[in-house]
Amino acid sequence: MPTNYGSSDTSNSAVRRYLTVIGTYYLKQLPEDIQRKFKNGQLWENIKEEFNYNCAYCGRKQGEVIEVLVKRKPMKKELILEREHIFMMNQEDVGLHHPGNIIPCCNPCNNSRHKKTWIQHLEDICAGDIDVFQYRKEKILEQIEKYQYSSIKESELLKIRETAKKLYKEISSITETAANKVIEDLITHSTLKG
Ligand SMILES: [Zn+2]
Repeated sequence: MPTNYGSSDTSNSAVRRYLTVIGTYYLKQLPEDIQRKFKNGQLWENIKEEFNYNCAYCGRKQGEVIEVLVKRKPMKKELILEREHIFMMNQEDVGLHHPGNIIPCCNPCNNSRHKKTWIQHLEDICAGDIDVFQYRKEKILEQIEKYQYSSIKESELLKIRETAKKLYKEISSITETAANKVIEDLITHSTLKG
């Protein structure tokens, strides 16, 4: 459990929620059965199946035994595929929670991505194996295409990004101001008491 929260955590949560809500607007443009399956989780099963239950980046299979570090100790664990947003849900990438932005990804690949774009991350993981890189890249591009995520216009993304940045700043500012106001009151109160 984290012992403290930076102001960026609060702002990032707000931006993620914002992008999830905007995602529902684009989701409504998809056929109804897709919308329904996305909501009840069936589509996630289909997406994993389309990727042959492999991690979209490293190709390892769901259920494969991998070695992970738990509190810096190597442990054997079965690989679980997680939902990964191709375009990250942050104020820069403004990826939406939408089927065209979701691929299966293993935990080690998810953790090692940091702020890289999906293509940079894939390049790093494929480490110079051009054929494998091309194959996996095509597969991810197909996913973006398949659920019409690629039809979101640049002008729409600009608008979404602009508001995301504004929201990020405002949430951070509101939170800090509220906390500082209470601290001021506490100081005043304790001075009067003292
Ligand atoms: Zn992986």
